[in-house]
Amino acid sequence: MSGREELWLGKPYYSLDAYCKNTFRHKCYKIALDAHMTCPNRDGTLDTRGCIFCSRGGSGDFAVPVGKPNLSSLDDQIRKNAATAARDPTSLSSVDDQIKAGLSLFRGKRVGNHFIAYFQAYTNTYAPVEYLETIYTQALDHPDICGISIATRPDCLPEEVMSLLSRLKREYPEKFIWIELGLQTMHDRSAAYIRRGYDLPCLTDALSRLKKADIPVILHTILGLPGETAKDMYQTIRFVNDCRPFGVKLQLLHVLKDTDLAKEYEKGAFQVLTMDAYLDILIHCLELLSPEIVVHRVTGDGPKGLTLAPLWSLDKRNVLNTLHSRMKALDAWQGKEYRHV
Ligand code: SF4
Repeated sequence: MSGREELWLGKPYYSLDAYCKNTFRHKCYKIALDAHMTCPNRDGTLDTRGCIFCSRGGSGDFAVPVGKPNLSSLDDQIRKNAATAARDPTSLSSVDDQIKAGLSLFRGKRVGNHFIAYFQAYTNTYAPVEYLETIYTQALDHPDICGISIATRPDCLPEEVMSLLSRLKREYPEKFIWIELGLQTMHDRSAAYIRRGYDLPCLTDALSRLKKADIPVILHTILGLPGETAKDMYQTIRFVNDCRPFGVKLQLLHVLKDTDLAKEYEKGAFQVLTMDAYLDILIHCLELLSPEIVVHRVTGDGPKGLTLAPLWSLDKRNVLNTLHSRMKALDAWQGKEYRHV
């Protein structure tokens, strides 16, 4: 094995799994949380419709509501819980209860005791700072939680939130705090189509403030947005390189039921990527991506009951196995085509 393959634990890209094992000496599992937030794209501040692809669960359909697990697999349990939560938001409980429920799903699975509390649903810095402090500290105080990852928007990071994050970083030096920002695309026309609601200068401003506060950032991108060519997606990856984030999520576009994107899809306004086309684009995106950036996701899998298309993406194991074997056959790896300027 080469030094790179060893560092990346045999994978052709620097996965979150490899990062955690290299950095913390153990694997970390995520517990997805719904902290009962909303979002300026939904509460009328910017819009009431949400991003065109966003589900009723605020892109947090894997959050873990409280309940007794009795299904055969962990994935099934999380999916079942997500569907329940989407139907009945009152079934969700406090962050503390959700963490306990999330941990109980792993009990007896010999996965160790290192978990990331992932504030996933909606915009997780969009609330009074006192409430944010309560929910973040509930997670950070838990002995099995090694850090928190907060999904939010760059236009929802006012100075009081930045101060809170900096203070928590000082108060919990042995734990990490990551921020996840939904870039999705660098192209203005696509950003307008998906109703993202902020421009690139807003994102770069948030990135520089987070960098100054020494808070690692994970950028989310979507591959396969309607109207985007492969070249457009490669430009987004080059933009990500320029931002120098800690991590990136390369998420396949999912069409979820009951979204405006689903209406567009059903009337034939666009087609989703085939698995072959997606893998070709994804592999080149990885080749273009800086080898320093940790890859937190390379496909994503929508909740089974909510995903309208592409259905091939539901077999995540097959997608990942095919990706890895194809990259091996092509001798492709993350950063192979990366040009640092
Ligand atoms: S910003 Fe996030 S939570 Fe808000 S509508 Fe868009 S995807 Fe959904």
